[in-house]
Amino acid sequence: MKEGWEAVIGLEVHAQLNTDSKIFCACSTSFGEEPNQNTCPVCLGLPGALPVLNRQAVNNAGKAALAINLKINPESIFSRKNYFYPDLPKGYQISQFDRPFSEHGQVEILTSERDEGGRPVDWQLRRFGITRAHIEEDAGKSVHDIGDPTKSHVNLNRAGTPLLEIVSEPDFRTSWEAYDYVTFLRRTLQYIDVCDGNMEEGNLRCDANVSVRPAGREKFGTRAEIKNLNSLRFLQKAIDYEIDRQIALIEAGGEVVQETRLWNEKENKTYTMRSKEDAHDYRYFPEPDLPPLEVSQAWMEQLRAELPELPEARRQRFIRQYELSPDEAFTLTGQRELADYFEEAATTAGNPRAAANWVLSELLRELKNASIDITRSKISAGSLGSLIKLIDDQTISGKIAKDVFVDMFATGKAPEEIVKEKGLVQITDTSAIEKVVDEVIGANPKQFEQYRSGKTALLGFFVGQVIKATGGKANPQAVNEILKSRLDA
Ligand code: ADP
Ligand code: MG
Ligand code: ZN
Repeated sequence: MKEGWEAVIGLEVHAQLNTDSKIFCACSTSFGEEPNQNTCPVCLGLPGALPVLNRQAVNNAGKAALAINLKINPESIFSRKNYFYPDLPKGYQISQFDRPFSEHGQVEILTSERDEGGRPVDWQLRRFGITRAHIEEDAGKSVHDIGDPTKSHVNLNRAGTPLLEIVSEPDFRTSWEAYDYVTFLRRTLQYIDVCDGNMEEGNLRCDANVSVRPAGREKFGTRAEIKNLNSLRFLQKAIDYEIDRQIALIEAGGEVVQETRLWNEKENKTYTMRSKEDAHDYRYFPEPDLPPLEVSQAWMEQLRAELPELPEARRQRFIRQYELSPDEAFTLTGQRELADYFEEAATTAGNPRAAANWVLSELLRELKNASIDITRSKISAGSLGSLIKLIDDQTISGKIAKDVFVDMFATGKAPEEIVKEKGLVQITDTSAIEKVVDEVIGANPKQFEQYRSGKTALLGFFVGQVIKATGGKANPQAVNEILKSRLDA
């Protein structure tokens, strides 16, 4: 950011809640149906049709709210947000306004700026406020580019899909903080299975409010809102672009106007969509067809009791408990089953460092090559732990272990079985190694001469030859020691 300036960013995230049916009717929420197949009088907004609240949507909203430390209000109110748009058949959206489902949250997450190559440079724990999360219905979709420029179509399959809108405090100061926060939200909601978090499919959407102010000034500048950012990378780039645009504008003597902007991903620019309507233009009023939503203390307690340890908390614990780096812990906690797998392997092996290395490099690579995820790995966490133990107690060398691993991945056999079958036990017996060492020296008289006349770098050559002669089974440390004593004798 330009010297002397500070950015202020607040985020609105719309998360589609996983439910079988829509929020106020029994229509399916399945994706990719023929246009307007998933519709009924309620979500078509036909006169006289009445909404009935979906319990699964409320349950998922409850889990999500607790997962991000919001307080759930014992009573909340649905309101009509009135506006006209072709994809909104009722002429209003049922949302929540002055008494939202949940509010007053705070999260503590790891965040870092990135270097030129996009790599995190300095992870720090930071706190961000979440103003509220309310429940609402989604609108339908207008479909324009259909070959005939005189026609537009409306698809109402999505109308009435349940959403949770999560509004943050204006607590972010850089685009990467915003990026890390949305990443956090997405992972958290996916982890507890309340939202698929697929930004390309629009099941997690993000609007960014951005303003700038001279560093040290308390009063916020005027904000612009960038709508419908459908990837994390676009979110980050759009915010950076917007910060620079506003600073340049003010420095040139201009003024930022409050408006809605869109991100053009081809030109890497934001542009004006419309000037900002005021909130009261929506003429919010309480929805007369729905009673207040009341939730009991017992229900909240039960949801809370069912929540697992969440990915960000687990990540921070992995860093402390197993001394992993923030990046390693991030990857390992991306999926609940993967985190469970790592912990079990680490415990079995009694060596968390090695377990993390094996999972992060060998295992994830093989899974990727096979296009499967951890739940379908033929190597159980216990087996991986046993493999690590075989290395640590010097039964096999690290090199041989890689081959055993490949075998395990293909067959699902236990490492002990493979080692026994293939006779891979490491040779630690000194006299056996001595014998091979003597043979190797005898077979390479020229190198031996060179070594003796001072070219000691040839030690590596001899080690390699000996290991090779034993089919990789000789303990490298023992080989080294014996070779040295023989060569230097
Ligand atoms: P609206 O419906 O007008 O978008 P909301 O209250 O839903 O209003 O959301 C406002 C968002 O903008 C919040 O995330 C808030 O933190 C953020 N925000 C408010 N003022 C500023 C500002 N001056 N600069 C940046 N973000 C702001
Ligand atoms: Mg907004
Ligand atoms: Zn319907």
